[in-house]
Amino acid sequence: MTDTVITNNVLNRYLFEDLSVRGEMVQLDEAYQQIIASKEYPVALQKLLGELLVSTTLLTATLKFEGSITIQLQGDGPVSLAVINGDHDQKIRGVARWEGDIADNATLHEMMGKGYLVITIEPRKGERYQGVVGLEGENLTQVIENYFANSEQLKTRLWIRTGELNGKAHAAGMLIQIMPDGTGSAEDFEHLEQLTNTVKDEELFGLEAQELLYRLYNQDKVRLFEPQPVVFHCGCSRERSGAAIITVNRTEINDILAEEGSVSLHCDYCGTTYSFNESEVEELFINAQSGDKTVH
Ligand SMILES: [Zn+2]
Repeated sequence: MTDTVITNNVLNRYLFEDLSVRGEMVQLDEAYQQIIASKEYPVALQKLLGELLVSTTLLTATLKFEGSITIQLQGDGPVSLAVINGDHDQKIRGVARWEGDIADNATLHEMMGKGYLVITIEPRKGERYQGVVGLEGENLTQVIENYFANSEQLKTRLWIRTGELNGKAHAAGMLIQIMPDGTGSAEDFEHLEQLTNTVKDEELFGLEAQELLYRLYNQDKVRLFEPQPVVFHCGCSRERSGAAIITVNRTEINDILAEEGSVSLHCDYCGTTYSFNESEVEELFINAQSGDKTVH
């Protein structure tokens, strides 16, 4: 164990060695707050983004390779899209789009209408995988559990909580999954399920992994691995925006410049706008032609 104790914005993995069940817990405050601060999200949508965020971090932790996972909710309700993207380094970002008023206690189905969940797994090397499931279940936890039942066929349970602790927004969750080697039993899994069901919001938001695991499972042997920090990080940059501009037809770009005086790219994930005036655009195209990709 490291000397520095990180109780938040951290992912912990553990193993019930004698029961052939693996576990994960994620606790987020700042990383979650940064995502919901980028727009004036309705309360219910803030919670939904928190749940998606927890699901994404728990899922990326199951990745056995370098890459990213994107979990998207799409629907025809007041919320048309809610998306969180995370990678093996636990760098996460997210955004949602909605229209009109949404009640504070709106359910998943009231927000999304007729919708579905899209999970995209993109390994850094290799093929992209996409799974689509309907919104079966009352809430996101049940929808994700259904996804696991259909795709991984490994007994998996999730607990996701969002709320406040000391006046600050928190999102946290736990996952248990039977090991794929077939040595785990249904009884042992159920035993751990029952114990995990007793977890309280304030314990999940505020306790260190070691203490929480002891409180919940003190009769069972748990091996806790090194914690991994979770950070809000958007991969967008001025350089990438410039690279996108030069892929557009020059005449089209000139029309935009004539009309608006500059070409602007807005990043939906973090809210940053990258603006290029006429001479900056000129420079982009000249550099592209000369093969020099550097953008100053
Ligand atoms: Zn961005």
